[in-house]
Amino acid sequence: MRPVALHKLVPDYIKEFEAYIPSKPDPELMRLYGVDHLHRLNNNENPLGPPQAAREVISAFRPPQAALYPSGDAFYLRQALAERFGLEPDQFLVGNGANEVIAFVIKAFCQAGDNIITADKTFAVYEWVAEFSGFEPRLVPLKDFGFDDEAMLAARDERSKAIFLCNPNNPTGSWWDEARLRRFLDAVDGRQIVVADEAYFEFVDEPGYPDGMRLLREYPNLVVFRTFSKMYGLAGLRIGYLAGSLEVVDVIRRTCVVYSVNVLAQEAALAAVRNGGEHIAATRALVAEQKRYLARETARLGLTTQIGQGCYVMIRLPMSDTLAYRKLMAQGVMIRSMTGFRFPNWIRVSIGRPEAMRAFVSALENILPK
Ligand SMILES: *Cc1c(COP(=O)(O)O)cnc(C)c1O
Repeated sequence: MRPVALHKLVPDYIKEFEAYIPSKPDPELMRLYGVDHLHRLNNNENPLGPPQAAREVISAFRPPQAALYPSGDAFYLRQALAERFGLEPDQFLVGNGANEVIAFVIKAFCQAGDNIITADKTFAVYEWVAEFSGFEPRLVPLKDFGFDDEAMLAARDERSKAIFLCNPNNPTGSWWDEARLRRFLDAVDGRQIVVADEAYFEFVDEPGYPDGMRLLREYPNLVVFRTFSKMYGLAGLRIGYLAGSLEVVDVIRRTCVVYSVNVLAQEAALAAVRNGGEHIAATRALVAEQKRYLARETARLGLTTQIGQGCYVMIRLPMSDTLAYRKLMAQGVMIRSMTGFRFPNWIRVSIGRPEAMRAFVSALENILPK
């Protein structure tokens, strides 16, 4: 057998990149930690699941449909989104989760020597896609847990192609209001693509919070990300999308892989867009109440927290977060340890149902030094 000449085949930026290690399936984890149940509070999933209308579509799926390729460009879903937001269907691109559309944008605008700008403590996929594609991610430190507009503007150079804002930010929950986003877009003045990742848009309940969709007409360099994974409870089907001006979307479309979004995801998302209203209200009420509960309980335990918008909170622990992860897992509670987010000793907890939140608090109390 001849060896593969990997040293010649693999680019340096791939040699240096470490693969993300996904967590094991729940049954494996339960066996590993010796527990008979597991509260999943690590991925910001909707504890109420998908909206009723999407459930019905999923139950009605006819197996023969599985043999046929889906619409290559999510035709009906883009029509429904256009109607919903008062835009053109061609202003939308649907992907295999919002994760895939991140790659569409970076591939469309970056070439060798280019860079993207984002924060050091935010959703890591922007940084990762840039890095393993051979482009420099410039990571601007957060300021008071939020994106630092001045520093991000200053970090740009001639080779900066796109700026990724996460609004509200995962994991800190901090957010820019409309005036601040507009000032930023005015300062960028079309020189870079500005991505507003609004994965948690439907959770935000603040009067000044901007709706990126409504800014697209004025700012043709703005690209908005949304997903069906969080509020709409369809994370397992993998579907998300971007919206932008016709001219920008026309460029990004060139990098899309057709058929990456399966037929069931398209149909369930369509139902969720048309009939998701009540579900959003119920989810928001649950999240608001359980956030208040966690705020009270962490205060009682004397812990520092960072609680902003979104369906998650951050808690600082007087111990290593990776150790805390294992100790909580041993009690059937899975949270996100945050060393990977560059927040050592912090954990991020997704908001779940009341019983899951109570289980978390009692497990947490058990592991804190007495
Ligand atoms: C979850 C998440 C996404 C990606 O979600 P998909 O499941 O790939 O649609 C994108 N951005 C942020 C900030 C997220 O938290």
